[in-house]
Amino acid sequence: MRTILKIIFFLALIATFSTLFFLPISNQTPEVEQTKIVTTIFPAYDFARTISKDTNTEIKMLIKPGADLHSYEPTPQDIIAIKESNIFIYNGGESESWINSILNEIDKDNTVIVRMMDSVELKEESLDNILNAKSNDIKTETDYDEHVWTNPNNVIKISEAIAQAIKNHAPDNTSTIQRNLDQFKTDLEKLDESFRSLASQKTGTIIIADRFPFLYFTNEYGFNYLAAFPGCSEQTEASAKTVAELIKATKDSSNKIIFKLELSNGKIAQTVSKSTKATVLTWHSVHNLSQADFDAGKTYLDFMQENLKNLGEALHDRTAG
Ligand SMILES: [Zn+2]
Repeated sequence: MRTILKIIFFLALIATFSTLFFLPISNQTPEVEQTKIVTTIFPAYDFARTISKDTNTEIKMLIKPGADLHSYEPTPQDIIAIKESNIFIYNGGESESWINSILNEIDKDNTVIVRMMDSVELKEESLDNILNAKSNDIKTETDYDEHVWTNPNNVIKISEAIAQAIKNHAPDNTSTIQRNLDQFKTDLEKLDESFRSLASQKTGTIIIADRFPFLYFTNEYGFNYLAAFPGCSEQTEASAKTVAELIKATKDSSNKIIFKLELSNGKIAQTVSKSTKATVLTWHSVHNLSQADFDAGKTYLDFMQENLKNLGEALHDRTAG
């Protein structure tokens, strides 16, 4: 009996050692190096996350959920994170001018820099159909509107640039990245088609009792709009004249739906709603998202689908029945 036990013990021992010493070697697959991506704003974070799905990639978003990107200032840790990243993605507009002062400090051999605004055709800021515009809302003649991601077709171009940067850093992931990019492009093309068909059917005016960062969007599809403030305006108090004009436009509209932006206090929309009984809906500019939406894993596409639904409601002509 003892001999049998001894034999079993030795067999077990051999099995253990062969597992320890031989199996790991035969099972070993080459480790794919992790890609570290740092982004400033949520759109960049979301595009990078979508494109790098199922690869060994870590993505850090510097502007926290719920924060206003227009007043963001980097911490020393944020600067270190940028310098230690393999890919740094930023938008590149007026709100991110702080980046210009650190660009020279970034070692371009270690960190590839992707500026979203470099991938698209830029449009100059415009005060057309903006009620409460101040003379200093446009600082110079060459101020470009920075909200490029509001047009899904721009997102396709930006995503191609991000995908290329990830492929260059981790060539082993090329096929996965390409698959993700193709899927994302298909989704964006469908979204584009939906907005295009909405715009072709509806002729009403979209009323935004808030800021207007949708120039790239409305230019693409030709929607009519009227808004309180320009895109990145710091103003929050509308003049009595602006409020009166918003109220008049709302009363004239066929279905009394007005918009406020996500993460806005919605004060002006409330004022207009009080005297017109208008319904206030949210139009996601996707500058940022709430902590709850971030935790729920909401994406750019989710917000754009919500926009599609809400714009459809706002432009539904009730007089036509
Ligand atoms: Zn903005």
